[in-house]
Amino acid sequence: MSFFESELKKGNFMIPECLKCNDVVWPPSNFCNHCFGKINWRKSDGIGKIIEFSKNKDTFFCLVEFEKNIKILGTLKINSKTPKIQKKVRLESCSMQEKNYNFTLVLI
Ligand SMILES: [Zn+2]
Repeated sequence: MSFFESELKKGNFMIPECLKCNDVVWPPSNFCNHCFGKINWRKSDGIGKIIEFSKNKDTFFCLVEFEKNIKILGTLKINSKTPKIQKKVRLESCSMQEKNYNFTLVLI
């Protein structure tokens, strides 16, 4: 299991950032995919925006973008707000089951 996955399992959404070119490395890797520089892990602020969303029965699913180029699929928890493209969401929790990443997001 990678460092990213072991942290995700503990509920930490960690982002790899290149020490050389400062780019966010995504998908997560131990080396930068642009310059092969070493990376530094930091915790995400957990704020993203909705790129796309869909509804299946009572559950909303969404594609969310974090930082510049990190895109993840997650479940959107519905509060009193209505989901819209470009709306901001906060990562409420993340985990890993089997080989699947689980992200739960809430509208802010
Ligand atoms: Zn780099």
